[in-house]
Amino acid sequence: MILPITVYGNPILRKKAQPVSKDFAGLKELIANMYDTLAAAEGVGLAAPQVGQSIRLVIIDATPFAEEEPECKDFKRTLINPEILSYPTENEVKFNEGCLSLPGISEDVWRPDKVEIHYFDENFVEHHEVWDGMRARISQHELDHLDGKVFVDRISPIRRRLLGGKLSAMMKGKASARYKIINNK
Ligand code: ZN
Repeated sequence: MILPITVYGNPILRKKAQPVSKDFAGLKELIANMYDTLAAAEGVGLAAPQVGQSIRLVIIDATPFAEEEPECKDFKRTLINPEILSYPTENEVKFNEGCLSLPGISEDVWRPDKVEIHYFDENFVEHHEVWDGMRARISQHELDHLDGKVFVDRISPIRRRLLGGKLSAMMKGKASARYKIINNK
């Protein structure tokens, strides 16, 4: 089932999300719905607060980058209670990011090019991995959502000011997207 996506200005996107327990009611169904939602919106990552659930759950589909990065082939991951343990690199790279919760906006964001990550998958199997490239990029963007951050928090104040009109329109409920959203009241 496709779920509507929360938009910048919705307080849930600013909340610190809660850890997920094994017995969280409807978890399997929520994950399946998030994959349906991500596919319908043609995104590469989605965090639970973006579908109205303030819990530490993220899905990633890096397969659109498989041509440039072979590691992204078949790379679909469900991350439960994920944590970035370290950034095993000196290298920060920029990439033009967008976000399904900020329709119509994209900006260059600098982030470390490698992460050491710990998470549980949809079967609560523990993983400890090192990701680089787009896997590192998407996981950092999505984990930010679990701590109430969005990518425009990471751009320069000047760039953010230039986006001011678009951001305040979103906050006032005037967002539009080619996928289902929950406009702010
Ligand atoms: Zn996002």
